Amino acid sequence: MSNGVGLDAGERIFRLRRILDQAGIAYYALDSPIMSDAEYDSLLAQLRSLEETHPELASSDSPTRRVGAPPVRTFEEVRHASGMLSLDNVFSPEEFESWLARLTRLLGRDPELFFELKIDGLALALRYEEGILTSAATRGDGNVGEDVTANAISVSEIPARIATTEPVVEVRGELYMSKRAFAELNASELGGRAPFANPRNAAAGSLRQKDPSITRRRNLSFFAYQLEVGPAIDHHHQALAFLTSLGFAVEPHARVVDRDGVLAALAELAANRHGFEYEIDGAVVKADRIEDRLIAGSTARAPRWAIAYKFPPEEQTTVLEAIEISIGKSGKVTPFAVFSPVRVSGSVVSKATLHNFDQLAAKDVRVGDTVVIRKAGDVIPEVLYPVLGLRPEGASPFVVPKACPSCGSALVQGSGEVDVFCPNRFCPDQLVQRLIHFGSRDALDIDGLGEQRAAQLVGMGFVTIPSDIYRLGERELSALPGVKEKTLRRLMAGIEASRSKPLARLVFALAIDGVGLQVAEIVAPVLGRLSALATVTAADLEALPGIGPAIAGSLASFRLDEYGAQLLQGLFEAGIDGAPEVPSEPLGTELAGLTFVITGTLPGLSRTRAAALIAEHGGKVAGSVSAQTSYLLAGEGGGSKLRRAEELGVPVIGLDGLARIVGGGNLPSG
Ligand code: NAD
Repeated sequence: MSNGVGLDAGERIFRLRRILDQAGIAYYALDSPIMSDAEYDSLLAQLRSLEETHPELASSDSPTRRVGAPPVRTFEEVRHASGMLSLDNVFSPEEFESWLARLTRLLGRDPELFFELKIDGLALALRYEEGILTSAATRGDGNVGEDVTANAISVSEIPARIATTEPVVEVRGELYMSKRAFAELNASELGGRAPFANPRNAAAGSLRQKDPSITRRRNLSFFAYQLEVGPAIDHHHQALAFLTSLGFAVEPHARVVDRDGVLAALAELAANRHGFEYEIDGAVVKADRIEDRLIAGSTARAPRWAIAYKFPPEEQTTVLEAIEISIGKSGKVTPFAVFSPVRVSGSVVSKATLHNFDQLAAKDVRVGDTVVIRKAGDVIPEVLYPVLGLRPEGASPFVVPKACPSCGSALVQGSGEVDVFCPNRFCPDQLVQRLIHFGSRDALDIDGLGEQRAAQLVGMGFVTIPSDIYRLGERELSALPGVKEKTLRRLMAGIEASRSKPLARLVFALAIDGVGLQVAEIVAPVLGRLSALATVTAADLEALPGIGPAIAGSLASFRLDEYGAQLLQGLFEAGIDGAPEVPSEPLGTELAGLTFVITGTLPGLSRTRAAALIAEHGGKVAGSVSAQTSYLLAGEGGGSKLRRAEELGVPVIGLDGLARIVGGGNLPSG
């Protein structure tokens, strides 16, 4: 850990157990969770792995070895005839395959498999003597549960009597609340109680009432999934048929599957996890043959013959190793978290933005903290909050630096603004970012000039402003670490080819504040040559559609600051003035007279390519939405432009809409 702050294994184990115990009581006994399931599962996984690496610190009392929580005193206790266990979890097809391989090894033959949905409710054991329900019990700690018979009888899907000649029948299954009943309950008169966090807590809270008439009104449901005591039956699927014949509801997707069918069923379920009337948190795959169950047996916590296949967690916990800051090409300073690599929503991440210092202070994450990570929109990792119970002593709040870590300039923050900037345009970190931008695909597309090369060029003093790359020869480029003959040729060719790129891309490459590619494309025909930037006025540009005063000002004043002046000078000296735009042969005129604005990420098509397509069909592309805009072409994540279009009543279309206007058929992807 970068500053030496950290908990030793013993202390960490001790604290994890304490936190998980508290969370377990809040969840199982009080039906009022104090953390998300993903956080709980992730902390439990950390504890399990620490206990594995430090067997001397193991304890039979650890939450990793226990099931649920002891019963609460409100109810009489019921000792279960056989343990009511939990289930082991897997989170991926690979983990599932290893579970299956292990079970196959244990049995010495391929198991017959049964697939069920994992209903998110709570387990109940129902005991019938001479056909009459004599006891209904919660799981409790697996050995002793709570007697909830009076309440269970009030649930319409739990029969009070069953038609059987068996002296004893014990049925186990899941008591749950449907999504609809849950929504109705939380929308109804709360009577002073807080709304339930989820249907599982609502079901548990509704069952564990002193007054059964409250339970009756709560609309609970029950699916049977196990015949624990009853007639001798050799397959689980037959047992479920028997339970159905007695009047129990069995979840309708439960079925026998083969080895190939099971993976397909799991994949299908993951794609449709929210498509059921009840919450599910995965599937349960079980051995169908009862004999296999006896052979495989159980651990103290879970059977070996069944596995819960859960959806991959969207949150994870990890340890924050450092808070670093990055300087963007505009000088914007962004703090980011560096943490121990962790797999979340399907990929391993070790860094996440902390957005700005205000957000960092509000979250108060500190180096050494255990933090909860999520992938926002399943793509960008984000730090949510610290787990305070695992904060090491001596972890101190992050202190916002006063000086830029790259160039030492005093950082500035505009009054009332959130963002902090390094004002030095020649700051090496900013330069690296601007050089990367200069050579990026939509700018001058310099093959081989990626992040690493840009950092080397600036770091070795070969580039102090992007135009310097035109002064570099073989000698300098081949001095860069890792540059061999092939890379050298590629870089030289890339730099050479960049000289004749169209003016719009050159204007974009300058990284002028507010000037994206769309703006550059609008102003390029007016400028004609890059040298026009030396004389153009804001008024000349403001007249253009889609160019506001701020952008016009930014473009016209670029030459006035020292950096802009030097960059333009450097480019002119290198003989670069921007190739005039070659109007491409129009493909059609279907879009003539129409002005489009593009926002968001379009599926399978870059925005540049989309803009080119519109132009090729005779349409215009503007940078901002106004009353003159004919259509807003919007992809995933369009923000302010989308809102503006809605305010102005500008029609919003997607790529399919554009294709329809162009005249049917699909647009080519690019
Ligand atoms: P579990 O819920 O992962 O699995 C076991 C349970 O699954 C069984 O007891 C049964 O009730 C249920 N189940 C549903 N459908 C089933 C089916 N078809 N066949 C067999 N069983 C089925 O394990 P658990 O030990 O009950 O609880 C662990 C879960 O509780 C985790 O998801 C954890 O996140 C959550 N939890 C959360 C907190 C919190 O603070 N948020 C605290 C403790 C536990």
